[in-house]
Amino acid sequence: MHTVSDSVFQRPPCNYHAKEALQPVPRVKNIRVPFSPMVNVASWSLPRPRRNGPPYHSKSNVVMVLEQVGVLLELKGANPFRVRSYQNASRTLGGLEEDLWVVTSEGRLTDVKGIGKGIAGLITEALTKGTWGDIGSLYTSVPSGLIAMLAIPGLGPKRIKQFHDELGIESIEQLKVAGEDGQLRELERMGQKSEQKVLDGIELLKRFSGRRRLDVGLLYGEALEARISSMDGVSRAQLAGSTRRRKETIGDLDIVAAVLPEDVESVTEQIVSLPGVADVKGAGSSKVSIILGTEFFSEEVMDSGLDGGVLEALGGDAYEEMASNTTIDAQVRLVPPHVFAFTLAYFTGSKEHNVRMRQRALDRGMRLNEFGLFPLDAVGELKGIEAAEFSLPVEKESEIYSHLDLQWVPPELREDSGEIEAADAGALPQLMDASMLKGAFHNHTTASDGTATLSQMAEAAQNLGWEFLGIADHSQILQIASGLSPDQLVTQSEEIRALNENWSDKGIDFRLFHGNECDILPDGGLDYTDSERGILDHVVGSVHQLPTWMKRDEDENTDALINAIENPSFTMLGHPTGRILGGRDGFAVDLHAVLRRMGELNAEGELKVVEINASPYRLDLDWRYCRYAKEQGVPISINPDAHSPQGLKDVWFGSQIARKGWLEQTDILNCRSGSDLEQLLW
Ligand SMILES: [Zn+2]
Ligand SMILES: [Zn+2]
Repeated sequence: MHTVSDSVFQRPPCNYHAKEALQPVPRVKNIRVPFSPMVNVASWSLPRPRRNGPPYHSKSNVVMVLEQVGVLLELKGANPFRVRSYQNASRTLGGLEEDLWVVTSEGRLTDVKGIGKGIAGLITEALTKGTWGDIGSLYTSVPSGLIAMLAIPGLGPKRIKQFHDELGIESIEQLKVAGEDGQLRELERMGQKSEQKVLDGIELLKRFSGRRRLDVGLLYGEALEARISSMDGVSRAQLAGSTRRRKETIGDLDIVAAVLPEDVESVTEQIVSLPGVADVKGAGSSKVSIILGTEFFSEEVMDSGLDGGVLEALGGDAYEEMASNTTIDAQVRLVPPHVFAFTLAYFTGSKEHNVRMRQRALDRGMRLNEFGLFPLDAVGELKGIEAAEFSLPVEKESEIYSHLDLQWVPPELREDSGEIEAADAGALPQLMDASMLKGAFHNHTTASDGTATLSQMAEAAQNLGWEFLGIADHSQILQIASGLSPDQLVTQSEEIRALNENWSDKGIDFRLFHGNECDILPDGGLDYTDSERGILDHVVGSVHQLPTWMKRDEDENTDALINAIENPSFTMLGHPTGRILGGRDGFAVDLHAVLRRMGELNAEGELKVVEINASPYRLDLDWRYCRYAKEQGVPISINPDAHSPQGLKDVWFGSQIARKGWLEQTDILNCRSGSDLEQLLW
């Protein structure tokens, strides 16, 4: 029952399951790669044709161009029918199951629903000649500032055009000034609230600018690592940087490759000619800087189902439209094999961790840098790669640590937050990992806004080798997510009891726990009455009415959360701050106070748990609070908040955050066995 491909022991490629990331699959879903709302202006140009066409362009190139043309036309105020024809064509092609080149060369493009003569002509030209008619002039005629504005969360082409037409705004800077002057609110269909939303969006964009979520970084980073590893002349390659440290968002990718000097040129050539390299920023003797585009994946990356709340925070439909046009920067360092481990450690960082390591080396009469670890008396004034021959020989990164009398520090912990002291004392934590999970709480079914039934979700959990699954559909107040009425809650409870009895009769070690994601009301009350909640095994208390909580101050929110937690039926705090990475900040709250209170209640014999919401869009509880929760005696539950069977695998991302937060197996509630949890919850 437990197959390798279904295992959470191996990381899912990301929330969006590029099944075999490197192999094309014939059946292609919508091209929808909801990466991040950051629109990279640089990616808004016509793609370069392949060298050895025809076909000179891939399907994803065509889909992207048609989508961008639709947006550009909208920004120019073109006839809505024309705009829609490009949008439709893009969408239809995204879902086309046949090979586009075959359809085109057989002259059957106009048979495809939604593709008219004009667009068919354009596609034919692009594939057979590599050119795009006069589309190029459309790209140059739209001010780049307008395209840049598309990156503001929640802002779409229509609004941008309105700002441009009515106020002459051509850049994010001008938009900000106009917003601060109160000019935007005067426009039609705007108002003060919408104006503030635009200003908040600009603020968010600045903060997240150029940053990607961890899952996106890993998707690209690990694929790039695999491709470079298999190149002629490369003996090993490894992903470094903040992706290796599992930060929740990352800037660009860092990859270190071991290459002999005589192979540097050929390896560089292989890297810059990888498909999907949108641009080459520079290539020297030891470093290649490239920009990867979505074409890096020859198959479309599939979505496992975003919940409506997340999508809304990211800008709704406009976000989906924009999302497939993103890029990511990557730096590849080419170093001789004997230097590899040093360069890997150096570019893994963090800077703060490296500073401590260098100081530790100095204290021992040595110099540490990306080229080696040198006894000062041997290396003298030599610096850089020339000094490398004087380095202590090191094969593996762990040897650098042992030379400095330290335990090897897992990359996740390298933030200078006590790991050097712990490694010195031999007291680093035994980090948990995803293979230790025996199930997961907080999952949705078709009863609320999930895509799979109870039985389907249970089956998916069993296929992961799990012993239990905690169901937590939405509560009645959340009508947009089809929250359950009290009657529906009772029905669900009966269904679950029947399923559990069936497994138990058959001697199968699996059970469903019947919970609910109960809304925490603004005053800290919980949805449903006490007796309605009484039938539940567990209550995941979550805040969903974000606007109210965002408006209030920290004290008020903290009091309300504590109030909710004190309710005897309350078990777990769901996505504690409500943040969406790259979409919105969480509400203000003193999480230390909240965790302290939970700890006090646990000391009195209750069970109050905090979740790490494992959706890569949330990763909330933030890893920076994990150790505090542990110290206060608050168990952590790694909750996928799955809305589909695929979504269960998001626990992998949560486990990365738990590791980054120093957590061990015993700190994690869902590392306990199903029968243990029965004792606790039934
Ligand atoms: Zn929720
Ligand atoms: Zn949920």
